[in-house]
Amino acid sequence: MPDRKKLSQLPSVDECLKSPAGEEWLKKYYRKIIVRSIRETIDAKRKELIEGADSDISVDAIAAEIEKSIIRHSAYKLRPLINASGVVIHTNLGRSILSDRALENIVSTARSYSNLEYEIEKGKRGKRYSHIKDILVELTGAEDAVVVNNNAAAVLICLDTFAKEKEVIVSRGELVEIGGSFRIPEVMKSSGAILREVGTTNKTHLTDYENAVCGNTGLLLKVHQSNYKISGFTEEVPVSELIRVGKEFRIPVVSDLGSGCMISLSPYGIQDEPTVQEEIMEGADIVTFSGDKLLGGPQAGLIVGRKKLIQKIQTNPMMRAMRIDKMTFAALEATLMQYLDEEKALMQIPTLRMLTESEDIIKKRAKKIFKALKKPVSESADIDVQPEQSRAGGGSLPEADFPTYVVSIRTHKITVNALEKKLRLGNPPVIARIKENELLIDARTIQDREIKTLVTCVIAAFNK
Ligand SMILES: *Cc1c(COP(=O)(O)O)cnc(C)c1O
Repeated sequence: MPDRKKLSQLPSVDECLKSPAGEEWLKKYYRKIIVRSIRETIDAKRKELIEGADSDISVDAIAAEIEKSIIRHSAYKLRPLINASGVVIHTNLGRSILSDRALENIVSTARSYSNLEYEIEKGKRGKRYSHIKDILVELTGAEDAVVVNNNAAAVLICLDTFAKEKEVIVSRGELVEIGGSFRIPEVMKSSGAILREVGTTNKTHLTDYENAVCGNTGLLLKVHQSNYKISGFTEEVPVSELIRVGKEFRIPVVSDLGSGCMISLSPYGIQDEPTVQEEIMEGADIVTFSGDKLLGGPQAGLIVGRKKLIQKIQTNPMMRAMRIDKMTFAALEATLMQYLDEEKALMQIPTLRMLTESEDIIKKRAKKIFKALKKPVSESADIDVQPEQSRAGGGSLPEADFPTYVVSIRTHKITVNALEKKLRLGNPPVIARIKENELLIDARTIQDREIKTLVTCVIAAFNK
């Protein structure tokens, strides 16, 4: 039987708020969250009493439970996690993490007013794209540049500007889908351009393009096959040749590079990844690429190329709906500046650093994690350091694998799947991968400052 007297003694929300603990909460947390947490805890206690439990229901006794609930409700939905997957540009985990320079610049420009659209010297209204133009021109060798929200928007605005109700010639081998939501044929459709496929999946010749050109051709589009490769009996037309057709028929050639590499990464195992500079040098009229793939900056779509074409894009009314905000500008400008010194860029831009880091350094990091874990988890698992392969990108880069080092964990008491889940549900979440019956923590994508937290999370996962 429920204890009616005790039920009537349950504290009220107000009593909890006015208690010493309540006063502390009000200083630290948001009122609505506190009230919700108090209600939930009191409701839970009432239920316990009705079910016959003899719980202590004084405010002091339930304060700890309320606080736990407050902390849970106060957590952001978007939160940092530890990427132990080894995938550097992970589409689901936020792609590129920003450099310190980029982060500092976001904070310093966003906490003050800025000259976002103001020309300080003339004391009048300015253009927001002017800040980024000069550095992009210097780095890529293009005549002009503009930036939009992401690369999908960059492609879309090019199609809308130059090929509305006109034909766009694309090789069948380049009708790619990227990350599940960006498919060239569908982007084409929504822009109002007409897709004119040429060639076959594995081979497209220059004559295929030439034969397809007609009075209604708006663009020749080349799309980088970011996330897949056709190997064997293949042929594609390089931009340098495509440009001859473009010149002859006065049709712009747009190259959607996707990854946006600005430093040749072939010495580091990423082959066949053309740089933006090379693409411009070969003659592409416009090159589009992402800010947060190989560039290692914020999400953005960069468009570089001929002045006349870029200016036409800038006057497209769609531009207003695709414009990037000041925080992105701050991060992008700082990231681009880092490219003025390639050596520094490779070390200080996290995406580039992780992709080009020596096996030695990765091995050292793996060993450090191993040493910290060995003793605490020795009863629950076998653990060691092993060579493995890690991936450059999840769906946004070529299928490049590089040698890495992992901490491998073989569990005794719980299954490897249970361990993976506990790590994922931890605080912060740790995203690891499973290979057969081992849990792998890839040291390539672990930041040095995360090691301590990572170790705590793994130990906690075994003890929970
Ligand atoms: C990734 C990619 C896109 C889409 O870029 P977002 O920045 O994700 O919008 C378009 N084209 C190619 C070739 C890509 O690799």
